[in-house]
Amino acid sequence: MSNLKSIESYNLSQQLREQYQMAPRAGWDQSGKRGRDNHTILVNRAQVLDLTDRLRSEANIASVYTFERLNLVNVLEQLARGEHDAVICPECHRTYQTGWMNGQCVYCQCRKGASDFVQKLLVESDG
Ligand SMILES: [Zn+2]
Repeated sequence: MSNLKSIESYNLSQQLREQYQMAPRAGWDQSGKRGRDNHTILVNRAQVLDLTDRLRSEANIASVYTFERLNLVNVLEQLARGEHDAVICPECHRTYQTGWMNGQCVYCQCRKGASDFVQKLLVESDG
């Protein structure tokens, strides 16, 4: 799934969440329980199937990226350990070399860069 497809799914889920939150009650899920959390609402089957497909796809991609990142971090730590400029980041406790990113922690900087990039995409997709 491309970045844009992922952002599209994020925005769609926000829109549908608001739509579902405001939808009138069609019935009760469990008899005898009264409360908003027990409401049922009418939802288009195709819309729900699209959402579950998107959720499954996003979960799969997130898992792959998570393990890919963990593997890359382990490789980088192995490369850094024992080198003369190796240090341990006080924030994430990972080992890196100060020569890699002007002395900054490569893992923290990459995480921050990724987070900033995604926030920028979300802001651009709103406007
Ligand atoms: Zn760090």
